[in-house]
Amino acid sequence: MTRARLVVGNWKMNPPSVDAAVALARAVAETPPPAHVAVGVAPPSVALVAVSAALRGSPVAVYAQDVHWEDRGAHTGAIAASMLAGHATGTIVGHSEVRREQGDDDARVARKLARAVAGGLRVVLCVGESEAEFLAGETERLIVRQIAVDAAPLQAARERSGALVVAYEPIWAIGTGRPATPTHASNAARVIRRALDGLGLDGAATAVLYGGSVTAASAPEFAAADGIDGALVGGASLAAAEFASIVRAFG
Ligand code: PEP
Repeated sequence: MTRARLVVGNWKMNPPSVDAAVALARAVAETPPPAHVAVGVAPPSVALVAVSAALRGSPVAVYAQDVHWEDRGAHTGAIAASMLAGHATGTIVGHSEVRREQGDDDARVARKLARAVAGGLRVVLCVGESEAEFLAGETERLIVRQIAVDAAPLQAARERSGALVVAYEPIWAIGTGRPATPTHASNAARVIRRALDGLGLDGAATAVLYGGSVTAASAPEFAAADGIDGALVGGASLAAAEFASIVRAFG
């Protein structure tokens, strides 16, 4: 099974201004990705429109970092999936920082995923265990539970299940400089695909990314890891040259 490869830079609450985000986007677009590797960047929502305009005509796709599960209304601070039309091709949902800081549980993540997919967006669904769960040997149980709830809306929208990408992001590896081993990531990818199959979805056809302290130095071993189709990159995506090396590693 050949799956498309994908590397997405999650800029989080960076860089410090819209102008700096546009400059970073332009710098990313200067290095065309290898054939068969799709590239995306996820700027903060205030910079989405400007970054999307700066990247028009380039192969670099724009992703939102999150969307709301409703389409309109009294949801201060949120953006609707439909507002991204013409500006983003996809969105991240379920990032552990959003789960932690904004109280997203799996039920909310599932509703966000459903709304994003219905709105025609590609969805990068983040799942992954905490350090305590990792140390307790509960990685598999946690991932299976997250996928069973978060991806469940796709059971009723199987024709759109190609829109799903899953990012395995162990929380203890995010921003710590301590990536998981490629073997651990490969095992997690296997569990993710089995859990998708359990929902009646096509695990083998679903791209699984690894995220958590990926750098230019560690990218080649994740690119070579069984079942890993790309990366979700935080800190290292803020330097265009390093991000380009990571993208190249997946080519
Ligand atoms: C992330 O936030 O999705 C991430 C993987 O961050 P970092 O690469 O900085 O660990």
